[in-house]
Amino acid sequence: MKSKGGLNMHPCSSVLHLLLRCMRGCCRHTRSRVPRRLRRHVSYIRLIFKSLYFNSLTNSDVVTDSILEPVFWMVEVVTRWFGMVFVFLVVALTSSVVFIAYFCLLPLVLHTYSPGWMIWHICYGHWNLVMIVFHYYKATKTPPGYPPKMKTDVPFVSVCKKCIIPKPARSHHCGICKTCILKMDHHCPWLNNCVGHFNHRYFFSFCLFLTLGCMYCSVSGRHLFIDAYNTIDQLKHLEAEKQGVPVTGIGLLIGIVPSAGVAGKAVQEVSQPPYTYKDRMFHKSVIYMWVLTSTVSVALGALTLWHALLITRGETSIERHINGKEAKRLAKRGRVYRNPFSYGKLNNWKVFFGVEKRSHWLTRVLLPSGHAPYGDGLTWDIYPLKKDMMPV
Ligand SMILES: [Zn+2]
Ligand SMILES: [Zn+2]
Repeated sequence: MKSKGGLNMHPCSSVLHLLLRCMRGCCRHTRSRVPRRLRRHVSYIRLIFKSLYFNSLTNSDVVTDSILEPVFWMVEVVTRWFGMVFVFLVVALTSSVVFIAYFCLLPLVLHTYSPGWMIWHICYGHWNLVMIVFHYYKATKTPPGYPPKMKTDVPFVSVCKKCIIPKPARSHHCGICKTCILKMDHHCPWLNNCVGHFNHRYFFSFCLFLTLGCMYCSVSGRHLFIDAYNTIDQLKHLEAEKQGVPVTGIGLLIGIVPSAGVAGKAVQEVSQPPYTYKDRMFHKSVIYMWVLTSTVSVALGALTLWHALLITRGETSIERHINGKEAKRLAKRGRVYRNPFSYGKLNNWKVFFGVEKRSHWLTRVLLPSGHAPYGDGLTWDIYPLKKDMMPV
């Protein structure tokens, strides 16, 4: 059989060809029956619906982020509004411990300790306190660093979708501060400030010295705590015996003791306790201080260790997440990911603390120092320390 174009065609192909033509004709016929205006409306609605979810870059992460978006929004709002409350909490709790240390423990140290221990406690305690206060103040008051809003020649890696400004390497957008932050680590509610290029060192030093301070209080106050706990325990037992109620358990520590008689026993007036009000307050203060400082030592100690690990690797908290993903992606291709902002373990610490010579370990790390970090936080392509500048 010869086709119109003179080409040889298989009989089956000709039947299929006819069938397709027939179907196309049918469709055209059906379409023409639907009013053009209605068709336009339907396609417009379909487009709007698709615009809600369609993205050529959509993956499981984008979907998860979209689902969790209300949760993130809630956390951001709460953190923004309660920022000052968190700062007040830090100041109030630290002040309460300092108050107890000055009015309960210091007189005890001066009366009972040997001169050597007395000097150690007074010197260490005050140095630690100065370091905590200095670094907390600097961490809250120092702006983390922001990318320029105007057009500059600074090289950038992407554009912030929310600020609509170029984003230099290592900078990220903070939803709570509603701006981009240079070398952003995280937004810290306890500081009511973002941790970025210019205050990262203050934040870490604050965590480190607060952990050391809490550990110092916890370790040096452990005997006092045991004594205070036993005393309060005995006191509660004495009171409870007078009331005719057997008392056991942790309720003693937090003051949960039955005030009324049990099994039909009448309520009796508690006679004068063997300890004065001042003694009770002293013991309760020691227990409060020990429980608070021990808890903070463990929780903040873990956080400080985590940040120390990140600094050793030359990463921020955000980069740890990004680099982890990138490392996995490259590992699948048989390649190894190398962090471009890491200068080696020890050098990362020197860069972080701004240590250029040996004496800086004392003056810039162990003493309060307001020196600026290396670089402007915009460019990261230059190795910040010359080899010959690092004798340490
Ligand atoms: Zn931004
Ligand atoms: Zn922030």
